Amino acid sequence: MAKKDNRLPIDLACPDCRVRPYTTTKNRVNDPDRLELRKYCPRCRGHRMFKEAR
Ligand SMILES: [Zn+2]
Repeated sequence: MAKKDNRLPIDLACPDCRVRPYTTTKNRVNDPDRLELRKYCPRCRGHRMFKEAR
């Protein structure tokens, strides 16, 4: 029986400049909503609240 794939690959997008320098995975059981992570943006040269982009 194939195991259920609950880890989805997502991109993390900077809210200011829309670059997507990070790719990660999330668990859709634990995180059904949009993920937000504080990450460094190389274009803004600072930390931003990156949001999941699909
Ligand atoms: Zn940015």
